[in-house]
Amino acid sequence: MYATRFAPSPTGLLHLGHAFSALTGWQRARASGGRFLVRIEDLDRGRCRPEWEAALLADLAWLGLEWDGVPLRQSSRGAAYAAALATLAADGLTYACICTRADIRAALSAPQEGPDGTVYPGTCRGRGHAAPGATLRLDMAAAMARLGDIAFADTGTQPGEHRRDADAMVDGVGDVVLARRDMGAAYHLAVVVDDAAQAITEVVRGDDLRDATAIHVVLQRLLGLPTPAYHHHALVRDERGKRLAKRCDARALTAYRAEGATPTDIRRLVGL
Ligand code: GLU
Repeated sequence: MYATRFAPSPTGLLHLGHAFSALTGWQRARASGGRFLVRIEDLDRGRCRPEWEAALLADLAWLGLEWDGVPLRQSSRGAAYAAALATLAADGLTYACICTRADIRAALSAPQEGPDGTVYPGTCRGRGHAAPGATLRLDMAAAMARLGDIAFADTGTQPGEHRRDADAMVDGVGDVVLARRDMGAAYHLAVVVDDAAQAITEVVRGDDLRDATAIHVVLQRLLGLPTPAYHHHALVRDERGKRLAKRCDARALTAYRAEGATPTDIRRLVGL
């Protein structure tokens, strides 16, 4: 059965871009008689706040997006993430990293930007630092040696099959962070574990996450989890063409609501 999810981080108020993403997922779920789930991505405890979680659920309800079941909160999923990390570690695919940002900058003469920021130079790979409490990274070269090229199907703005060869993942993405001292599991690992746990068949999210999807496919394959279909949609931009950010309070749904906008107005504003 079709299932998708809307997975906001409660680090600010939802804006028009979130409304577009949630409405798109909801419509696709309802059109196929499937499930629309909500997941609260609240791993970064320093930036997430309960009042923002309450506000985003109120916004979704106001928009008329009734979700199936109880929202899944990533902060309650530590055991599942630990199990996935243990699997990857047992397969020799992770290592502990003690580099600071400054260490990483200092080690690179020509920093390369990947989907997760600067591609890590691999300083700690093979050094065997003790793991507890340290940052854990995926050994991308070891992972890709095992998997070969990867691919996923997209029905969004760039429809078709998207392939990434092993070298592109090693050189252009590198050893991504899977867990951090301050927040346990990091985004990529948590998303992959939770999409599988929620039996998501299609991930609906913005174009800005297409490169992250390649990382997710790598983790799915390593963990023996299914790869869902992907629908990466266009981003809502302001009149200057800049994508909307959560801190842009003028675009917050609560601001439109306060001015008397209706859910129909919001649908029209985002072009639905
Ligand atoms: N939590 C992410 C965000 O707020 C979305 C992650 C996803 O859809 O995979 O941008």
